[in-house]
Amino acid sequence: MSKIENAGLECSRCGTETAHDVAYAGRLLVKVTCTRCGKTIERDLRAEYLADLGRRVVTKPKRMFKRFCRNPLGYAGSLPKTVPAKPMELLSDVRLVWDAARTAPHGVRGRQPGRR
Ligand SMILES: [Zn+2]
Repeated sequence: MSKIENAGLECSRCGTETAHDVAYAGRLLVKVTCTRCGKTIERDLRAEYLADLGRRVVTKPKRMFKRFCRNPLGYAGSLPKTVPAKPMELLSDVRLVWDAARTAPHGVRGRQPGRR
């Protein structure tokens, strides 16, 4: 499942700060939706997502090793839960990015700083 967080942001339709659902695919902010009026801002981040995915795949073994070194038992214990979820997480991210690209207004693209 793509990661969805909540944030208080100013909505251009509501004209005030409201709660927003903020959807990430990997480290990229793809979609922001006002929970009051439903106004959604989506961006076409297909190229950025594929580049980010490539970087994450390349660095995955190193990141796994670091986590293992920090907490071997905790890391090993988490694998039965996290590994089976990865394909669904990837599918969810791809679906989010491609759906956003299809509905994003023409020309709404661009790079953004990665989320930490
Ligand atoms: Zn709104």
